[in-house]
Amino acid sequence: MDSGLALILIITALLIGIAAGKAWERYKLHEGQWVDRRRVRQSPHFIVGLNYLVAGRVDLAIEELEEASKLEPGALELRLMLGNLYRERGQVGRAIQEHQTLLQRPRLSQMEHANVLLCLGLDYRRSGFVDRATEAFSEVLKLAPDNEAALNNLEKLQEEQHQWQEAYETRQRLAAIAGPAVRVRSKTILAFLEHELGLQALRAQDLTTASSRFTASIELDATVLPAYLSLGDVRRLQGDTAGAAAIWEAAVKVSPDRAYLPLERLEALYVSEGRGDRFIALCEQLTSAAPREWRARAALARHLISQGQPARALELLFGALEHNPHALAIHQAIWALLSSLDLPRPLVARYIDITRQSVFYLDPHVCTRCRYRSTELLWQCPQCHEWNAFVEERITPASDLESEMSANPPADDQ
Ligand SMILES: [Zn+2]
Repeated sequence: MDSGLALILIITALLIGIAAGKAWERYKLHEGQWVDRRRVRQSPHFIVGLNYLVAGRVDLAIEELEEASKLEPGALELRLMLGNLYRERGQVGRAIQEHQTLLQRPRLSQMEHANVLLCLGLDYRRSGFVDRATEAFSEVLKLAPDNEAALNNLEKLQEEQHQWQEAYETRQRLAAIAGPAVRVRSKTILAFLEHELGLQALRAQDLTTASSRFTASIELDATVLPAYLSLGDVRRLQGDTAGAAAIWEAAVKVSPDRAYLPLERLEALYVSEGRGDRFIALCEQLTSAAPREWRARAALARHLISQGQPARALELLFGALEHNPHALAIHQAIWALLSSLDLPRPLVARYIDITRQSVFYLDPHVCTRCRYRSTELLWQCPQCHEWNAFVEERITPASDLESEMSANPPADDQ
């Protein structure tokens, strides 16, 4: 779906280029013959081909556009487009051949040269030739330093290879030339990249650099949760447990729906200091502020079990289950607890009662951009490579959902 849309966008951009770009003179000398360039655009094959393209019928579009191309074999844009279509159809070798042939044409303008290289870079990227793709996009940027498509692709290649510093610089270039919406998004991406650079420093045991990277990440985007987790880790390694606790508690406030991530760390820290009460208070504060948030309840239940208070823990888990019947972890925790209590009949009956109306769902995290599903929360989507795009899908009993939908209509995807 997404790649189809991207394809149409690329093609639309190419068409606009055809229409409004460099002066499209009617006649052109091609191999000793004057060719009427309007013939291609006015040919029924061209029009029908575009219609097939819009309808997503790539095979038929290629057939028609190949026919149109015979009218003027020299038409660069049409061959460029056909090359892209071959790539989208999975014939990457053919796409590479097509684009390499175009590259060998004499007298390409700088813009044409950059466009052909960009398409070639996309071919290489699709076929997994990382070095060649990187080289192609870098060449495009020498010819056209503001080419956003080349910058975006280069950044993704660098991220895939964990070249975080290079990706950071590429994103800075993108942010500098982009509009306000991309600039805001870029700050978040730069914050995630800062975090990756900090992790690199942390692995090299360079706590000072790691600390300043994580701090910079939070300064760029105060909602980037992993930076708080990692900064707290650094503080703890530096022996500053109060500092670690403060940062993790700040993380809970910044992102209450993901509070379970700092909670695990906070529990270990508070228990090791004999301040379990502080942890209980924090969890209770969270669950009363967000009654549907089940992970704080589950975290507190786990803590209470370890403290020898199973009855109180079970009450919390039942409360969590009522609002989140899809969360398998709650069911597992309840059954573990019920068995440890020797399956008391009234409690088992209550469990069955709560779950009777429920719909279960096992993969609760979904990418808001490409709908990729994951059992765990991911910071970068493995499919579309978007940062921070995962939300938890909540499937609840119909009665619960209806009242929520009327209060909170669902937001559109980004
Ligand atoms: Zn995705």
